[in-house]
Amino acid sequence: MLDLSADKPRAAETAHDEASTLLRPAPLIDPFQRAITYLRLSVTDRCDFRCAYCMAEDMQFLPKRDLLTLEELDRLCGVFVERGVRKLRITGGEPLVRRDIMQLFRRLSRHLKSGALEELTLTTNGSQLARFASELADLGVRRINVSLDTLDPTKFREITRRGDLATVLGGIEAARAAGIKVKLNAVALKGVNEDEIAPMLTWAHERAMDMTLIEVMPLGEIDGDRTDQFLPLSVARARLEERFTLTPLPDRTGGPARYVRVEETGGRLGFITPLTHNFCESCNRVRLTCTGKLYMCLGQEDAADLRAALRASPDDALVTRAVIEAISRKPKGHDFVIERARPAAVPRHMSVTGG
Ligand code: SAM
Ligand code: SF4
Repeated sequence: MLDLSADKPRAAETAHDEASTLLRPAPLIDPFQRAITYLRLSVTDRCDFRCAYCMAEDMQFLPKRDLLTLEELDRLCGVFVERGVRKLRITGGEPLVRRDIMQLFRRLSRHLKSGALEELTLTTNGSQLARFASELADLGVRRINVSLDTLDPTKFREITRRGDLATVLGGIEAARAAGIKVKLNAVALKGVNEDEIAPMLTWAHERAMDMTLIEVMPLGEIDGDRTDQFLPLSVARARLEERFTLTPLPDRTGGPARYVRVEETGGRLGFITPLTHNFCESCNRVRLTCTGKLYMCLGQEDAADLRAALRASPDDALVTRAVIEAISRKPKGHDFVIERARPAAVPRHMSVTGG
């Protein structure tokens, strides 16, 4: 007679797995069958800098009373994590200027400990990093993006209008010393930093930091014309190829970046080219603002207001339903065109959704 006893535990295990799959809340899948696994949360629209391509000098920020509390932001993130979001990026405005922001990181880090979240990270201008780097590392932040468009202190002041390069470099050092891997984001600006791209790349790779170049996007009114600032990355790349050997890498993050290895330095270089390359087909992300608005696409105006559903009940059922409904409206892609950059193709500033 066939002895099935050895299969019994396995059969029980399979049944258990099937049951837990059935019990697990359904993941967020959009109408184009893209799984939403990446949430970017802008915790404030405020910033201590006024980068010329990002903001006007004289900005009208949201009244503080309109902001969701840190507890509410944490609750919203919890809903997304429960539904399969594996990566959470905290951004802004400048995320580290929001008061008590470490409390939010502390709460969110429980999802890392439980294994529900793969990565908790942030994008920052680096001005406050020296203060927070070791605490961020303790809370499980392993990699961060720091925005840095130039290594020239005078130019840095001109671009950011109020930033101090030495402070940011100190912040980057503090993060590295705490064991956090830093990636630099630099916006390629015609006539401003285009000559610096190659030396910055060498500088970054000498310090084991990857670098990503970003094309200026037509988001929000600024004091000037973005078409003047627009440097196609195809041009920047061709110039780099005169000095470096760039080998395309298969690495994809579901985002707009394409990566190459720079053979001479051994480091990685990314290109974010929303205007010259359509990357939407693999988009796995949505963006949540500090007032609870969920943007399904960086380049479209449609947003779902989650605040009412969140506040209507202490139970998460309503807000979860609002999230599912919103994801069912995620569009196929954006329609940025730099020629329409003035007035801005999308009236909202990058600091509202955090890029
Ligand atoms: N303050 C933080 C920082 O600067 O890293 C986080 C928010 S900032 C809006 C996120 C990224 O968006 C930065 O790397 C910044 O350079 C980039 N950015 C801002 N406005 C942009 C625009 N109009 N086009 C392209 N990138 C932009
Ligand atoms: Fe602030 Fe970042 Fe915008 Fe610069 S890019 S103004 S640092 S939000």
